[in-house]
Amino acid sequence: MNNRVLIYIEVNNGVVARVSKEIISHAKQNFLQSSIDGIVLGDEQSIDSALFDLKQLGLNKLYIIKDNLLDMTNAKVYANALSVFLENNQYDVLLMGATSDGRDIAPRLASKQDIGLTADCTGLEVDENGNLLATRPTYGGQLMATIVSKTKPNFATVRPGAFKYLQQSCNNETEIEYFSLSFDGLCSLLEVLYSENKPAAEDWTCSEIIVAGGLGIQNKENFNLIYKLADLLGAKPAASRAAVEQGWAEQSIQVGQTGNSVSPKLYIAFGISGAMQHMTGITNADKIVAININKDAPIMSGADIAIECDAVSLLHTLIGKLSD
Ligand SMILES: Cc1cc2nc3c(=O)[nH]c(=O)nc-3n(C[C@H](O)[C@H](O)[C@H](O)COP(=O)(O)OP(=O)(O)OC[C@H]3O[C@@H](n4cnc5c(N)ncnc54)[C@H](O)[C@@H]3O)c2cc1C
Repeated sequence: MNNRVLIYIEVNNGVVARVSKEIISHAKQNFLQSSIDGIVLGDEQSIDSALFDLKQLGLNKLYIIKDNLLDMTNAKVYANALSVFLENNQYDVLLMGATSDGRDIAPRLASKQDIGLTADCTGLEVDENGNLLATRPTYGGQLMATIVSKTKPNFATVRPGAFKYLQQSCNNETEIEYFSLSFDGLCSLLEVLYSENKPAAEDWTCSEIIVAGGLGIQNKENFNLIYKLADLLGAKPAASRAAVEQGWAEQSIQVGQTGNSVSPKLYIAFGISGAMQHMTGITNADKIVAININKDAPIMSGADIAIECDAVSLLHTLIGKLSD
């Protein structure tokens, strides 16, 4: 194994973030010439609760920085601690989830290390020289750009849902090393007076079936049929950006480049044209069913099953049949 890859593993309230597992799955499957290590930071309670799961991730080595100052209220402390770690350990590639915490830590760390950062990537490869080829949408999603950084470690954040999490039974023992450092001078002047643990919002993007609606649904009243069908199928509803802009759905359920990436077993798209910015969000869907009155809509050629018909009529029919 030539190349050294380090993945920052995000743990929230003792739970390993799904995006971290997605990055590890992708790295293990695709970075064949690389040794894949992880680093996790957190307070004692959070790390201890996550330890069993962390050992199942199939990493070569897992570094743990455990300190009760690390309670994720301050990204600066995390960035400072990671920076000290990188000064003592050399890596070719460093990866992190582009979550709200990841987006807070990554630029601070890049700035401290004076290295480049390719943010919000949707594709990653490592070449034989250990260079990271990081792909992300550019020019408003019109182009996919593959960026090779000249600084080491090559650093990228990865969009949640961009890669599939493949749960594998893992036999190899992960070597664990505790990395200790002095936090004197690493903490910011910010004093946290009060913090509240909110229950994590349900992650609908991991749902096995997603029923999505676009502008072809025509109005908000019809869009309620998307919610109804999703409910009957035990699925989650989603929307194109055009439907969100009409006020038919919340932005939180938008799929695509400026929304969410999803990886369901089945994605059913009603009245969605299949613009590139939408398709970017469903590249990991196992099967796509598209319902459109226009057989030449781009989504129809990319779909596993393309149904040329009126979306609203089909929604009524399906809901009627499933409600019986
Ligand atoms: C920087 C940038 C970022 C973007 N990010 C996103 C993003 O994250 N997600 C996203 O979705 N878009 C995004 N877009 C917008 C994207 O380019 C498209 O405009 C948008 O996806 C179109 O949504 P739509 O398919 O619902 O609407 P349209 O493109 O208008 O398509 C409606 C479709 O419905 C079909 N139709 C009409 N009537 C019926 C009917 N009765 N029955 C069945 N079919 C019917 C039509 O044939 C058509 O194919 C972004 C654009 C830019 C520039």
